[in-house]
Amino acid sequence: ASPAKKQRIMGPSHQGNGLGSIQNKENYQKLQIERLQLPIYSARKRLLQEIQKLDTVIVIGETGSGKTTQIPQFLLESGMHRGKTIAITQPRRVAAITVSQRVAEEKKTAVGRLVGYCVRFEDMTSEATKIKYMTDGMLLREAILDPQLKRYSVVILDEAHERTIHTDVLFGVVKDCQKERRKKGIPPLKIIVMSATMDVDHFSRYFNNAPVLYLEGRQFPIQVYYACNPQSDYLFASLVTLFKIHKEAPKGHDILLFLTGQEEIESAVQSIKEISRDKEQEDLTLIVCPLYAALPSQAQLRVFQPTPKGARKVIVSTNIAETSVTIHGIRYVIDCGMVKAKVYNPNSGLDILKVVRVSKAQALQRTGRAGRESPGTCYRLYTESEYESLQTSTVPEILRCNLASVMLQLLALGISDIINFDFMDKPDTESIVSALDQLHLLGAVEKADNIQLTQLGKQMAAFPLDPRMSKTILAAKDYDCLEEVLSVVSLLSVESILVNPARKRAEAMAAQQKFMSSDGDHITLLNIYKSYKGVGGNKQWCQENFINNRNMKTAMDVRKQLREICQRLELPLKSCGQDMTCIRKCMTIGYFMNAAELQATGEFITLSTRKPVSIHPSSALFRCKPAYVIYNELVQTSKCYMRDLCLVDPDWLYAAAPNYFRRKKPANSN
Ligand code: ADP
Ligand code: MG
Repeated sequence: ASPAKKQRIMGPSHQGNGLGSIQNKENYQKLQIERLQLPIYSARKRLLQEIQKLDTVIVIGETGSGKTTQIPQFLLESGMHRGKTIAITQPRRVAAITVSQRVAEEKKTAVGRLVGYCVRFEDMTSEATKIKYMTDGMLLREAILDPQLKRYSVVILDEAHERTIHTDVLFGVVKDCQKERRKKGIPPLKIIVMSATMDVDHFSRYFNNAPVLYLEGRQFPIQVYYACNPQSDYLFASLVTLFKIHKEAPKGHDILLFLTGQEEIESAVQSIKEISRDKEQEDLTLIVCPLYAALPSQAQLRVFQPTPKGARKVIVSTNIAETSVTIHGIRYVIDCGMVKAKVYNPNSGLDILKVVRVSKAQALQRTGRAGRESPGTCYRLYTESEYESLQTSTVPEILRCNLASVMLQLLALGISDIINFDFMDKPDTESIVSALDQLHLLGAVEKADNIQLTQLGKQMAAFPLDPRMSKTILAAKDYDCLEEVLSVVSLLSVESILVNPARKRAEAMAAQQKFMSSDGDHITLLNIYKSYKGVGGNKQWCQENFINNRNMKTAMDVRKQLREICQRLELPLKSCGQDMTCIRKCMTIGYFMNAAELQATGEFITLSTRKPVSIHPSSALFRCKPAYVIYNELVQTSKCYMRDLCLVDPDWLYAAAPNYFRRKKPANSN
């Protein structure tokens, strides 16, 4: 049986560009000329020779030199793929989607045919797909089902400099797979590692001194300006800088502004639109495009459209635009100097999303985006001495994140000796032990001499979710509320379905009030789901209730896929009717490690580390004082906020993990 079933999940919404065939032909020729002009083209022959000769090659080249879009095509055109599929991994879904669209266009085909992409909950590939862009997380999942990656002849690990946790694990997985295939006489797996930064000795050494191919860069000089004084409000500083540039810069010079996350970006976009509307007398229109991972594909594409004459484009992006996508026309970069990153808390073993300073390497990449096509300018919203104090390069994610999810996947891959796994940078034993400890608490592993997945652990690994979320789903089978829990989990897996426009905040809150549950956000989501289903998923209803229709649709799609996994695992798909308690119990069983307790002072502290935390203003429980809650996520801004909360009973917490809570008791308990 073919283990990784190919499926077409979402409608072919990105096929073609809607132009007639004549325009298509012109466009095709234009694209072919552009291809020949890319720096990578001159390296084509050498690259193909090397990869023919050796099984592993490392490629370095500036962003925009053509690595991601061209190398897979070179391999295909030369027949090096031997009729099989070429996988190209990307740390980000946005990049996988937009690049595959570009390459499909260059190949004059629709996405999902010769060229496709596969990201979590969305598979746009078919039997015909030979060039497959995918997130690193998806390839890792595929490896669980097929450790020899038999359907691929070449795996390209792109954006290797980002060192995401999945890419780091994939290094070891593909290296091992290459060795296994050689041993078993299966046609070799070719590996290409691609990076935008120069420090690749590490990669080369790890891959048995694989040769490094340097692509000639195309970088114009860039004038860098620093802030004179440290800025306390980079958002404000970025707007001031932006409008200064807008006033002074010639037409046709576009601006790229780096901020940290969706909410911040949306609010900046809103402010920019409002300010430029007030300055209507100006003859130069500002086109403002947000760019972040969760942005719907259609909106992402706007970023790449050429700026019309008489307009200036401003792209407000997360670090996506640092190296993984190429945008034309950028002359000005504004770098806020910050990035949103997961930060591991070794005491609790949990991650917190936090805005932190970028590394020097990231700052340089951001600056570089201004000089791709001509000389450019970069404004750093921090001082030169602040720049000097930045870390040289970003610490690999695997050294700073909770490893539980990745450990579960390694175990599902059949790798039980994790301490001796061939990591490029090995996480410290303590982090590995703490991750295994968490999996043990969740019932996913047995701790014998040889660590092994339990039956439950195997089932948990089947879901493309955090182990705690998978555990919640699996708990639901014992409480006969799987249908409800699937609805809640699906809504949690997509971007916020509540719309809160700044201008109509009161109206939105009034409309959404009827869904709010004093039991917390999960039950609130369920209420929304039920009402939405009640009216047959209707768009007008979404508008009236300030619910994001598109995110709702995506959530329905996610739900369908999760439900299929449940069916495959033969879990009983039952409903609990009006009884909401069992749903909250299931959440507790998955998330007991994320519990917080109300103190006499009116503040909350986490039970794991006794850290002060607050309820996020977006929560249904914001104005409540529940004694115990569990939360899905911690976000650190001015305070440390809990998001997605559920009111729980302390007895449930204890019942979910007696050993865990016994350990947490103060010393006088023995
Ligand atoms: P690299 O991977 O080396 O950063 P890419 O292969 O992503 O480079 O990009 C090569 C060139 O392809 C870019 O310089 C740009 O001209 C073009 N390109 C890539 N993606 C797009 C896109 N989505 N829209 C328009 N042009 C694109
Ligand atoms: Mg690239």
